[in-house]
Amino acid sequence: MKHKLVRKTVRDFSEAELGPIAHEIDRDARFPWQVIEKMRVLNYFGLQIPRKYGGAEVDSISYAITIEELSKVCASIGLCVTVHNSVGAQPIKSFGTEKQKECFLPPMASGERIGAFCLTEANAGSDASGVETNAVEVEDGYIINGTKIFVTNGGICGYALIFATMTTGAGKPFTNVFIVEKEMAGFSVGEIEDLCGMRANPVSSLFLEDCKVPFDNCLGQPGSGIKIALTALDSGRIGIAAQALGIAQGAFEAAIKYSKERQQFKKPISSFQTIQNYLADMATEIDAGRLLLYRACALKDENKPFGTEAAMAKLYCSSVANRTTNLAMQIHGGYGYSKEYDVERYFRDAKVTEIYEGTSEVQRLVISRAVLSQHT
Ligand SMILES: Cc1cc2nc3c(=O)[nH]c(=O)nc-3n(C[C@H](O)[C@H](O)[C@H](O)COP(=O)(O)OP(=O)(O)OC[C@H]3O[C@@H](n4cnc5c(N)ncnc54)[C@H](O)[C@@H]3O)c2cc1C
Repeated sequence: MKHKLVRKTVRDFSEAELGPIAHEIDRDARFPWQVIEKMRVLNYFGLQIPRKYGGAEVDSISYAITIEELSKVCASIGLCVTVHNSVGAQPIKSFGTEKQKECFLPPMASGERIGAFCLTEANAGSDASGVETNAVEVEDGYIINGTKIFVTNGGICGYALIFATMTTGAGKPFTNVFIVEKEMAGFSVGEIEDLCGMRANPVSSLFLEDCKVPFDNCLGQPGSGIKIALTALDSGRIGIAAQALGIAQGAFEAAIKYSKERQQFKKPISSFQTIQNYLADMATEIDAGRLLLYRACALKDENKPFGTEAAMAKLYCSSVANRTTNLAMQIHGGYGYSKEYDVERYFRDAKVTEIYEGTSEVQRLVISRAVLSQHT
């Protein structure tokens, strides 16, 4: 009952507020601040943040439903909310000191400060240990130098979690995470990327040029950067799976509607068995993806290990999103290839769900490692 209510509330909001602008903000690559203001009031930015710090602290299934329903209408905004909540706020919630939580989480929960997670660099993608951004300890903090690329929410972030390599003396290099605030000297935002999909999200590079960060902004124990990244990505993958599922569901519903309206050979195309088979496959795969996703959410809420299950959900839901949007475009025929129809946007938005927060190849590595270690 609770989850049905969450779905209805977010669906009503998405259809009313994002539906009328989704096409235009994709076309113009515009971040819709007016709708974001309304989302701030409704606590979308505090979904996974504890109530103590102003968040909504919803359970993981409610969270997944929220991301799914937002993404069904506008995947770029689903992306903004999930990156902010999961890989943006979650590391502070899980690894921050009480002082850090009190300082950074309330402005994130209210959406005053939007979060970004900055691991990827020109030479460090799937291999997170290749980070070349470096931090040097000085008398009153750290000096960071480097460039991060493909940062979701990069153009609008208030806090950026920067992964940087450090060396002390002759010891081995290690990775730390720093909470960089947008006003800090030496921090700047690069050009907004001109992307295939997710165009309403201001994905950008971020530059750190002798950026001075106080000791209080270093997250976790020294050298815990990779652990923080991997932990955050486990949760993040629940959000990306939910996003992919929302895109698939949106394309599926558009395909059903169109197949009933479009007449060929004096019949609706939905009366042709081939089209019916396509719709049956789409419905089955979406349901299977949803079950995988909700299983990962349930495990997370029970405080049980859920990383492998989240990787399975992300791997499967992202591939369902790609197959479903492809079939939805096919069902629309030539019209589906036109920007006039939403399926064209769904098709472009779906692809990146197989790339970010770990490519599908990386998900298979995560899953196969678990499978192999369970069957020795
Ligand atoms: C729109 C968008 C938003 C993004 N947002 C963020 C963000 O907010 N923060 C962030 O840090 N990053 C972000 N990224 C970056 C994203 O996470 C990386 O693109 C992704 O991790 C892959 O890294 P890469 O592009 O360097 O590809 P590479 O790592 O160079 O991979 C290239 C190919 O090789 C394959 N490959 C690599 N290693 C292996 C292996 N061991 N076994 C098998 N195959 C392998 C990959 O799967 C892929 O097919 C974003 C990217 C995009 C496009």
